[in-house]
Amino acid sequence: MDASIFHPDFKAQPFWWEAIRMGDDPPAELPARADVVIVGGGLTGLNCAIELGRGGAKPVVLDAEPLGFGASTRNGGGVSGGNNVGKGLSGAKGRQSPDEQQEWLRAIMGDASEGLNHIEALIEREGIECYYKRSGRFIGAWTPKHYDGMAAKVDALNRYADAGASMLPRERQREEMASDYYYGGMVVERTGKIHPGLYHRGLMEAAQRHGAILLGSTRAGALTRIAGGWRVETSRGPIEAGEVVIATNGYTGGLTPDLRRRLIPVASHIIATEELDPELAAGLIPKQRTLADSRRILCYYRMSHDNRRVIFGGRARFTQVTPQVSAPILHGMMLARWPQLKGVRVTHAWTGNVAFAFDYLPHMGVTPKGLHYAMACNGAGVAMLSYLGAEVGKKLLGKSNHVPVFDGREFPTRPFYAGNPWMLPVVGNWYRFRDWLDRRAA
Ligand SMILES: Cc1cc2nc3c(=O)[nH]c(=O)nc-3n(C[C@H](O)[C@H](O)[C@H](O)COP(=O)(O)OP(=O)(O)OC[C@H]3O[C@@H](n4cnc5c(N)ncnc54)[C@H](O)[C@@H]3O)c2cc1C
Repeated sequence: MDASIFHPDFKAQPFWWEAIRMGDDPPAELPARADVVIVGGGLTGLNCAIELGRGGAKPVVLDAEPLGFGASTRNGGGVSGGNNVGKGLSGAKGRQSPDEQQEWLRAIMGDASEGLNHIEALIEREGIECYYKRSGRFIGAWTPKHYDGMAAKVDALNRYADAGASMLPRERQREEMASDYYYGGMVVERTGKIHPGLYHRGLMEAAQRHGAILLGSTRAGALTRIAGGWRVETSRGPIEAGEVVIATNGYTGGLTPDLRRRLIPVASHIIATEELDPELAAGLIPKQRTLADSRRILCYYRMSHDNRRVIFGGRARFTQVTPQVSAPILHGMMLARWPQLKGVRVTHAWTGNVAFAFDYLPHMGVTPKGLHYAMACNGAGVAMLSYLGAEVGKKLLGKSNHVPVFDGREFPTRPFYAGNPWMLPVVGNWYRFRDWLDRRAA
């Protein structure tokens, strides 16, 4: 390990936590009863609570850890406009007729694009100060073949998700980033970025304003059916609820084994650099978009909200590892793209869990036992799970004016899979090898 990459003030925690006080949860008592108990205090749970509160219901949000301790304050802050349900597009190939394929694409991409409408309207309505900007994204092509693959998707993205997508050839790549690392790429205008810590805090305040009770460090235990609803055991005692919503995404555990076996929790890792020379910082991403690439082992990166640091994320490993392992890998990936950052040190490194579904699609619905859920962000849940969390709230109030295409779809699992993704290190190595092969061939 190259210890010189670590700044003397290095912290193994999210850079975003510098702007918030993690663990400073509002004081609250556990009531004896709630209209709805929401398990999970991330952005899915809070969006659900806001919608319920706005509709006059009394929700209680429980999180086993301090509120926001999951992925919701750990992410890269890229806000997707629906372009990243891409892998779900493979669902179209199995459909019979070209018309059915088009209908499927229209349905999932159109609905996925609702996520951005939702989050923008919410931030505006609730006055959430989280440095939201509709910045656009540049997705670098790892190989010329990937470039062609992206070009083939532009039309569908624009037709069904109004994505504002266009291709940028390699010779013009420096319009988007101070690097020749990729073989050109795709610009997607209809995407944004936020400060995840401030977005989460804004959601907490909005949920409280609308009457929700928020309880951090309160683990939900056994869930038992009773007349008129549920009894939820918690680490602070029992609570009764008319309905229960599970909003635990990559942290879904033994409480809901039936959901756990449908999710693959995958670790994602991020570093933040020390503050850069302002001129250097301003030139790295001239249009201040978010950046990502087309590798199987994806990297996603951007400047911090104040444009002073690089926030560089990726699947350095598919499992949880210490910053001593992940930070040098990510730092190396950053230098491969921007050699001009040699000598720049890392001040923060952290990790969190995303959740993949076996069909690569987000899901909301109701389990056979009657538990509501929204989950499976496939690495891009900031807009999507905000939207689906709110949709669960509307559905519980009986106020939905449309049914999201992701609601009630078959939520697949695999035989003998109980939620322990033992295969991830093998898959990670295989993907890394294939990325390397593709690039070498290019
Ligand atoms: C490193 C990283 C980078 C990411 N980057 C991006 C990005 O740039 N753009 C994007 O769109 N998405 C990104 N994501 C994904 C995004 O952050 C998630 O989709 C989103 O935050 C999920 O929100 P959530 O509320 O569903 O789950 P979480 O925020 O993960 O919250 C789930 C909560 O459930 C709680 N919980 C679990 N079990 C119990 C229990 N029994 N009782 C009580 N509470 C319980 C956990 O403590 C946890 O706090 C990233 C994720 C990570 C980890």
